[in-house]
Amino acid sequence: MFVMIENLKYQYNKSTKAIIQNFSLKIKKGEIISILGESGSGKSTILRLLAGLETPNSGSISINDNVIVNHHHFLPPEKREVGIVFQDYALFPHMTVERNIKYGLRKMSRIQKQQRLDEMLQLVRLEDYKNRYPYELSGGQQQRVALARALAPAPSLLLFDEPFSNLDAHLQIKIRNELREILKHTNTTSIFVTHDQTDAVALADRIILLENGSIGNELKPSELASTN
Ligand code: ADP
Ligand code: ADP
Repeated sequence: MFVMIENLKYQYNKSTKAIIQNFSLKIKKGEIISILGESGSGKSTILRLLAGLETPNSGSISINDNVIVNHHHFLPPEKREVGIVFQDYALFPHMTVERNIKYGLRKMSRIQKQQRLDEMLQLVRLEDYKNRYPYELSGGQQQRVALARALAPAPSLLLFDEPFSNLDAHLQIKIRNELREILKHTNTTSIFVTHDQTDAVALADRIILLENGSIGNELKPSELASTN
């Protein structure tokens, strides 16, 4: 399995209840997973554990047979090849689209960076916008810049935290389809966390229900769609 998450446990301190417990999940290369759960169920904590922004109390995570965290070992965030797209996009407001997208490519040569930038701009159809600043773009365009920035370093695993909640309803539908196509095209293994069943159904190959920090049922999008 490409991503192996085994028996993850996380608690803020010893006296409080664990926020994540018995959390195990296997993900194939290129698969798109949605983790669907109510507010407070532990979705953001799972993403923070995967990205290396929190350390689990126990359990392990490996990606492509490399341990990124276990009892003995903690790979820091910058070495994990795990990308995140946040709810608010978190674009750098003082940088153009071009500089935002190149930001994660510091180790590449100038020529490689330029090539990668051009590929990414084409992928998200923003070729004509590279000299704009984020405030000069629509919400949908900002979302696409955030995606291009996250995809540019070719992450092993890409995480999305409620990526559509700031978009208009009509735009959500458009972007969901676009995003699924781009992720499949680039064979990018991805995890979305969301409280929105419609998002989960539209995007994912598999839907994992999260209840009080543990995995509940697992569903195929078609099963969930038919219960509506
Ligand atoms: P979700 O993303 O699903 O809304 P979170 O992962 O943000 O859930 O939070 C899971 C649980 O952790 C919640 O019950 C929340 O109250 C608790 N929590 C979040 N941050 C802290 C903190 N700094 N200290 C203690 N508990 C926290
Ligand atoms: P979308 O349907 O993608 O949200 P909008 O209707 O918001 O698009 O925007 C349409 C066009 O207006 C886009 O090409 C965008 O670049 C441009 N635009 C939106 N906001 C601004 C702004 N603050 N300054 C300059 N151009 C803008």
